[in-house]
Amino acid sequence: MTVRSGAQFLKGLEAPRELWFEGEVVRDIPSHPVLGKTARTIAWLYDLQHEPEYRDLLTTTLPGTDRRVATSFVQPRTVEELQRRGRATKLVADLTAGMLGRSPDFLNINVAAFAAANEYFSRADPRFGENMVRYYEYVRDNDLSLTHTLISPQVNRAKGPHEQVDPYIVAGALEERDDGIVIRGARMLATLAPFSDEMAVFPSTFLQNTPGAEKYAFAFAIPCDTPGMKMICRESFDAGGSLFDHPLASRFDEMDALVVFDDVLVPWERVFLYNNIELVNGLFRDTHAMPHLMHQFTTRMLAKSEFVLGVAVLIAETIAVDGFPQVQERLAEIINDVETLRACIDSAERNARPGPGGVMVPTQEPLWSIRTTFHKMYPRMIGHLQQLGAGGLMLLPTEKDLESGIGPDIRRYYQAANAGAEERIRLFRLAWDIVGSTWGSRQELYERFFSGDPVRLMSTRYVSYDKAPYRDRVRAFFERSARQAEVAPAAAPAPAAAAPVGARGQ
Ligand SMILES: Cc1cc2nc3c(=O)[nH]c(=O)nc-3n(C[C@H](O)[C@H](O)[C@H](O)COP(=O)(O)OP(=O)(O)OC[C@H]3O[C@@H](n4cnc5c(N)ncnc54)[C@H](O)[C@@H]3O)c2cc1C
Repeated sequence: MTVRSGAQFLKGLEAPRELWFEGEVVRDIPSHPVLGKTARTIAWLYDLQHEPEYRDLLTTTLPGTDRRVATSFVQPRTVEELQRRGRATKLVADLTAGMLGRSPDFLNINVAAFAAANEYFSRADPRFGENMVRYYEYVRDNDLSLTHTLISPQVNRAKGPHEQVDPYIVAGALEERDDGIVIRGARMLATLAPFSDEMAVFPSTFLQNTPGAEKYAFAFAIPCDTPGMKMICRESFDAGGSLFDHPLASRFDEMDALVVFDDVLVPWERVFLYNNIELVNGLFRDTHAMPHLMHQFTTRMLAKSEFVLGVAVLIAETIAVDGFPQVQERLAEIINDVETLRACIDSAERNARPGPGGVMVPTQEPLWSIRTTFHKMYPRMIGHLQQLGAGGLMLLPTEKDLESGIGPDIRRYYQAANAGAEERIRLFRLAWDIVGSTWGSRQELYERFFSGDPVRLMSTRYVSYDKAPYRDRVRAFFERSARQAEVAPAAAPAPAAAAPVGARGQ
């Protein structure tokens, strides 16, 4: 099995696991009244891989075989292959309005990048590099869905993991055994946890290299039904109702969970890094996995921004405010955002260079620009939608209202200049999902934090950026100015009354 169908994906979710939702362990995710809805959305994404319209882009023949795998698992060797992977990402993001942050392709791309950089893991232990390659092949060949958890629980951020009130609040290695390591403690925040086959536990936050910190230095992945692993879901942000009432929230609540490791045995063959703080701290940067991930999520951000632009334009046209200059200015601002994102992604793809294992790595600088601005860009777009929709966003009859005895009044008074009442309500309800619903608020928080704390990301952006060319340019300017000053007297004789040219440089 290399390319799964939706039914196969749902079957995989039946494996018993300790997934807590609203105070209960969910026994059957696919048929759960709330979680089952998003499970079916993800299943639909797996089904798309078999649909004639999408199959050729979403799947790829493995070189040297006749087997097809999801394109997101491809390790691109050329710019064209990288661009093709980007188009597959874009297709999935377009079909989900860019609102599904953790569609499975996100982590597929991550493990493909780690496997290409297997030598990095081998530096800690030759077995770890081999484990990484085998794991990549395993998830690729079984087309598995992964979630990942990178961050320690938010207990005391002023202290390191080993300085917390309990050294095993933060997930750490409790014991090293012949058959693996035993992990105790918790991690946050695993998006897509209920809809995943595997839990990847990767490092992210910088780990101070102090005595006692080594036990938090690891990277591993285990099946979601591993004994002792518990996932505690947040409440659902699907407000219920029909697809008409909540066109996004009712399908794309990807869910988030805290993950508890209650003395969980991680077999050695699933360990990719252990006990090496330096390698753990450099993981995403030095394997070049980050540019690959940025390529995925900036492409999704583009799809999301294009969708928001479409909603904004339709709102403006529907109620005939699109002729006002201040409305046009707001729409033009979203257009500029969209085109900036597109240009950055295009530049990153075209200027890709071979990286670890000969895999083509998108150039990272333009992607970093998006990564460190989208957390402001997206809330601005939301503000534009609120300004355009205004009071109309508050008066939103439901599908039931439309079908009820008050329906004729609704059809009369909710009509718009360029749309009937039903069409206008459908559009404004979609906008409300984005700007006002609980689900929409999570979308905003997601864009602010999913890729890390924007405050620290900006510092990283500044510190890691190669600033030398710009310093040099200014220094060269001064040097040129000084040389020009030297030749200035001959080139332009001073007027008779002027003071003599200064002694500097003469
Ligand atoms: C919707 C959503 C989905 C997510 N999905 C995932 C996922 O799938 N997998 C995953 O692993 N993670 C996920 N995350 C977590 C995400 O990576 C973190 O939210 C992000 O890294 C910030 O960490 P934190 O939330 O612990 O904030 P904290 O680090 O606790 O920060 C809280 C506040 O304190 C400030 N602060 C804290 N420490 C410092 C410091 N050292 N220097 C300066 N300021 C500091 C921050 O700026 C911030 O204002 C998700 C987050 C959200 C909101």
